[in-house]
Amino acid sequence: MNTQAANKRIRLLMHLRQRGITDTGVLSAMERVAREAFVPDHLTDQAWEDMALPIGLGQTISQPLVVATMTQALELTDMDKVLEIGTGCGYQTAILAYICRRVYTIERHKALLEEAEARLNALRVRNFTAIAADGMKGWPVINGIQQAPFDKIIVTAAAREKPPAALFDQLKVGGVMVIPVGEPGEQMLRRYKRETEESTAIRDLMPVRFVPLLPDVSFGVNDMNAAVSS
Ligand code: SAH
Repeated sequence: MNTQAANKRIRLLMHLRQRGITDTGVLSAMERVAREAFVPDHLTDQAWEDMALPIGLGQTISQPLVVATMTQALELTDMDKVLEIGTGCGYQTAILAYICRRVYTIERHKALLEEAEARLNALRVRNFTAIAADGMKGWPVINGIQQAPFDKIIVTAAAREKPPAALFDQLKVGGVMVIPVGEPGEQMLRRYKRETEESTAIRDLMPVRFVPLLPDVSFGVNDMNAAVSS
């Protein structure tokens, strides 16, 4: 890495600290995962700015502060099994995988998922499993194997009113889910802690802008554009 690139990393890390990111696991993941590997070539100069960036096909890679805030709110340990909905380019997956035991990630766009998997493999991230499916339904039973319940759940697309019930069902008692909730233009990032079988503590983290959670699996580029403009 050249000096300029190293300086940009240090600047971003200092900025994240100033904005309340104190978890050392999260800070080292943000420092070590090469964000430039997840953005298009012509944007690698901006990879270490605290900005969301377009990753093609109308999708975006989230702003580093939002990724760090969501990850910190999960209170991850290296024992955690994490469910992620909305793989996108795979950047958040790589951050999670750096800290936790294993990430199970679901993306509804098959083409995006394949690209993300190829990127993660090239970066030698091994502790993740990725599938194309509708994440609102939770992780499916595959070949008779049930992965739920999960210690932590992170959703990187917005729910209209409240988190999908199927996701709550897959969260362990004592577990945490982080998810943006609300209509476009007034979304709030929320942390839900499942305290007992019946009760959940809810905390607002920050206002955010995410693409909406959409149902079903998508295979085509046209459908992808339709999904973004909705
Ligand atoms: N975490 C990503 C950003 C995700 S953008 C990153 O780090 O780059 C949100 C993603 O959620 C999009 O790729 C979108 O296709 C996906 N998505 C929306 N609804 C979904 C659903 N029901 N199941 C799975 N993925 C979904």
